[in-house]
Amino acid sequence: MRVVAVPNLKDNYAYLVIEGARAAVVDPGEAAPIEQALAREGVTLGAIWLTHHHADHVGGVAALVAKRPGIEVVAHAHDRERAPHVTNAVEHEATVELDGLRATIIYNPGHTLGAISYWISGSDGAVFTGDTMFGAGCGRLFEGTAAAMHASLSRLASLPETTRVYFGHEYTASNLRFAAAVEPNNPAIAARASALREPSTPSTVADERATNPFVRVGEPAVIAAARARGASDDPVSVLAAIRAWKDSFK
Ligand code: ZN
Ligand code: FE
Repeated sequence: MRVVAVPNLKDNYAYLVIEGARAAVVDPGEAAPIEQALAREGVTLGAIWLTHHHADHVGGVAALVAKRPGIEVVAHAHDRERAPHVTNAVEHEATVELDGLRATIIYNPGHTLGAISYWISGSDGAVFTGDTMFGAGCGRLFEGTAAAMHASLSRLASLPETTRVYFGHEYTASNLRFAAAVEPNNPAIAARASALREPSTPSTVADERATNPFVRVGEPAVIAAARARGASDDPVSVLAAIRAWKDSFK
């Protein structure tokens, strides 16, 4: 397996997941950069894997499908109607395959009610998280609750620590500024910020466990920062408080 990040729109990432001469594309927000990347890599498109229905993640689907009638388009069952051209509506722990590639669906509501990640296990494992887990951050709670996002991030953070995390937006630099505000004394956050290069994708599960405040809601320093903003020390309350703080953080 080989993964190629394809910048889309302003700060989105789509990804080609390549096995042999074929690729799946994750979250094509626009078609032209995907077509160019397929040509550059010399591979043909065999499947479209969507993490959720938002336009910046699905905007390229119609044009890609128009040239490849009948191509598999995967989304969560909740998004069967509201994502375009879905042919395979999946649930938690379903598997999707393309040639030798096999991804397991992780249902991770919170950003939206149809949010899923695609996890490819193994020593060079990868997870495509859309707008659920970002580099040092998480998506806004547009449809789900803080409890749902906590459960979803906990599931992703429990994957093997070497798993590469391919997220949906280049937000890592600003997320790390916020992470440093939450945990000013966490040396891993300072180290990650000073080593940061863009594109910052992928990170690893280990990076996120060490620096992502939304993953670290059980850590004393994160609990203390949330308590100062009215939270209890319950992890869901901590996540809700720091998510609300981040929503207005400059
Ligand atoms: Zn989104
Ligand atoms: Fe997005």
